[in-house]
Amino acid sequence: MTNQRPYPRHAAPHTPLRPMWCCRACGQQWPCPTARLLLKSEYADNNVSLSLYLCGLFYEATRDLYRLNPAGAPDPADMFARFVAWGRQA
Ligand SMILES: [Zn+2]
Repeated sequence: MTNQRPYPRHAAPHTPLRPMWCCRACGQQWPCPTARLLLKSEYADNNVSLSLYLCGLFYEATRDLYRLNPAGAPDPADMFARFVAWGRQA
């Protein structure tokens, strides 16, 4: 596995801008649809590793977003769906 992704040099990669967790390239909530496709492709042969990776990001993003705005932090169930649950979908 590698962290090198085949992005054109001029294009921002679809990676998370922390601590807001929006996409650097398209501005949507991360993981955006493109990021999900790339992750699915990158982890095509190792769904367990993808789930573990996503669980780590779920933890980091929840911590960041609660620190940024404790009163308006996202619902934990929504965060789980956004970061973890989608990874198990075929
Ligand atoms: Zn994106």
